[in-house]
Formats: sequence, C-alpha cells, structure tokens
Amino acid sequence: MYFRLAKRLLLETDKRLLWKLAYQAGWKGFWSVQRHKKRLRKGQFFPPFLYLSIINSCNLRCQGCWVDVAGKQTKIDLQALNRTVNEAKTMGNAFFGILGGEPFLHKELLEFLGQHPDVYFQIFTNGHFITDDVAKRLRALGNVTPLISVEGSEIISNQRRGRDNVLSQTMQGIKNCLQNKVLTGVCTSVCKTNINDLLTNTWVDRLIEMGVMYCWYHVYRPVGPESLPELSLSTEELRRVRQFVVDTRVNKPIIVIDAYHDGEGRALCPAVTGFTHHIGPGGDIEPCPVIQLATENINEKKPLQEVFNKPGFLREFRELTASNTRGCVIMERPDILLQLAEKYGARDTSQRQTVFNELQAIQPRHSQYVPGNEIPERSWAVRLAKRFVFNDFGTYAKHFRSQNWQNPEDKPAVNGLLPVVSVETSNQKNFNG
Ligand code: SF4
Repeated sequence: MYFRLAKRLLLETDKRLLWKLAYQAGWKGFWSVQRHKKRLRKGQFFPPFLYLSIINSCNLRCQGCWVDVAGKQTKIDLQALNRTVNEAKTMGNAFFGILGGEPFLHKELLEFLGQHPDVYFQIFTNGHFITDDVAKRLRALGNVTPLISVEGSEIISNQRRGRDNVLSQTMQGIKNCLQNKVLTGVCTSVCKTNINDLLTNTWVDRLIEMGVMYCWYHVYRPVGPESLPELSLSTEELRRVRQFVVDTRVNKPIIVIDAYHDGEGRALCPAVTGFTHHIGPGGDIEPCPVIQLATENINEKKPLQEVFNKPGFLREFRELTASNTRGCVIMERPDILLQLAEKYGARDTSQRQTVFNELQAIQPRHSQYVPGNEIPERSWAVRLAKRFVFNDFGTYAKHFRSQNWQNPEDKPAVNGLLPVVSVETSNQKNFNG
C-alpha cells in the first residue's frame, strides 16, 4: 500500500505543492511538536497547532452546528489574524487550521494566506465557494490544503446541511481543486444518517479515483442550539469508525487523518493534551471549537505566550479534564465545563448566549474513550508518526487514574453526574500511589 500511496503522491500532484506540504507542514510541523514537548518538560505551554475560526457566517445550516451562522457577521480581521499567526510563528508553529462558519466567505482569506508563505494552512470548508479561479489562486499560493466536508448522499447532504443541492455544489468545489492540482482532503462528521454511505470502501475508492489525497472521519458531536443527540453514534458504531480508519490506512493508497487516538489506540482529546486550542470569530481563546467558553480574547492584545502560560481557565481545563476522562469532555462531562466556567468567570462566547443552558441540557454519553475498546494502529508508518508527533505527551499519565469502567452505566453517578476527580485529588492520589 505504501508504494501505491507514494506513486499517487509523485504522479498525481504538483511537485511544488508536494514540497511545501512536506517541508512546511511535515518537517516544520514535526519540529513545532518537539518544541511543544520541550516546553512541557520545562513547565511551559504553547499549543503547537492553533485553530482559527475566522468568520461565523455560512451559507449552510448544518445539524449539530455550534456556530452562530445566522447571527450578525463577526470575523477576525486581517491585522488580528496576522498578529496571531506571527506570534505563534515565534513559538515555532508552522501549521494552522482555518475554520468558520464558511472561511471562504471571509474576503481577506486569500490575502491572509499569501502573507504567510512560510507556514501551512488547512481550511475546513463546504467547498461551495471554491470556483475554478479560487482553486487556481490556492495552487499559486501552495501553502494551503482545503479539507472539504461531505455529509452524505444527495438527500442526506441536504438534510444534514439544511439546504438544497448541497452535494453537487460541494463536489464541484472538490473537482475545481483537483483539476488545479490543489492537495485536497475530504472529511465527514460520521453520524447515524451517513455512516453506511460514507464509512465504506466504495466511498474511499471513489475519493482515490477522483484524486483526493487524504480523508478525515470526525465523529458527530451533539452540541449547539440544535444538537440532535439522536444522530450520535453508539459505542459499537464508534468502534466501527475506529476499525475502519485503522484498516483503511493499511489497505488503501490514501492518507487517513484522525485526532482522537494514539498509536496504541488509546483515546485522547487534542485540546486536553494541549496539542491545539481555538480562537473563535470574536477573537475568544477557547479550549476547542465546540467549547464556546473563554476568559481571554486576542483583541486584548496580551502576548499569547503569557495567556497560554498563566494559571487559569485553559490550564485547569486541561488538567481537570485529564483527571476525569481521556474522551470528549463536552460529550461525557459537560458538568466539568460548567464548574470551570463558574470558577474562572468564563464567558459564553456565542452570540446566542445559550451555551450554559446547552451544557446543562446535554445528556452525558460515550465519546472516543471507551475503555477496553482500544484498537492499535496496524500501519507502522502511522504508529511511528504518532510516537513522535501525536500522542498524549504524558498528559493522562500525570493526572488520569483509570477507573476501568467498561460501560458508561458502570460509572458511579452522583445526582446523574460523576464525582469530579479534582486535579488536587488526582495529584494527591498519584503521589501517594
Ligand atoms: S473537547 Fe471534545 S470536541 Fe473538543 S477537542 Fe476535545 S474531544 Fe474534540
């Protein structure tokens, strides 16, 4: 399989773009993680990957979306974008995720990308605004890969995204990118209504045939004002997604990304391990895109290094969550977020101002952490990569006391909520062994 993938990379791509991916995202990305690990050893912290939601507006209305897409347009302006990226560059960061809303609705996006030719960007997009001309400009820039979301068949796509003709417009965006040899990825938020259509070899074969170079299977998170928990996957389906990802990596000549498991298949949260943090369209510095709580904002112009290093909401978010679960805190333990928000006076960063109610209304459920369900990587190349650049960096070993709960219902609940294993308690226990 590795030979077939190498052949695709060498024969199907623009070599200048392949070089930029390998050097800026690969080589420089690798060193940004080594610098992160070095900082952690010195008790310092700065996330090697930043996600920037540059605008809230979007032309679609997706199920389970947490962004105020219909709200008053809010965006991070070019000056603030450049300041943030330049600060992160001084910390060795070389790879940035660009989200929205729909990022291509931000009029200064291409200008912004052009002002940072030395780093790499991944744009999370629905593809609807990637015309042939835009694709040509992305190719000219070379430091950007669009990750285009497909959420189902024609009918399911319309249902999932709250508009008509969604899939055809998305496929046109993908086609425009591939015809212009832009390194392109396709992602899906796997849920009840699309798992049988998209978590298949047939779909992956189609992506390969089209020229798509990588794919990413997210797991549907029931968040936001219309969370639709009934779309969420069961533990058996969560396992199916993980197994499919692990198998596809050794069977198909396509790169498969995931952000929730280390090489041994142990679950992790990239926000808790400090691998990533997020900046919202209003400039709020949040743990991750779906946790719309913050105490800091980039528009206050405090040095990011200072903001990320000081004790407070973000640091305790990482430590307290790591003491309680290896999974997704907003799915499993929204009570922890409420507790932290109260303790630090964290603001609801949404325009709709209903995040606290939404957190209170969440029914805790399993996420990527299902003890006993670990599926190790079969691909030696992925294992190697994860060993050096993507694991929990010792976060959980430091805090987490495995309770070995097999099923969610095994967990002793207090008033429907689990006892929060506080950082102090877990440190105490660890030290007392
Ligand atoms: S809190 Fe959940 S959604 Fe956010 S990064 Fe962690 S696992 Fe992902």
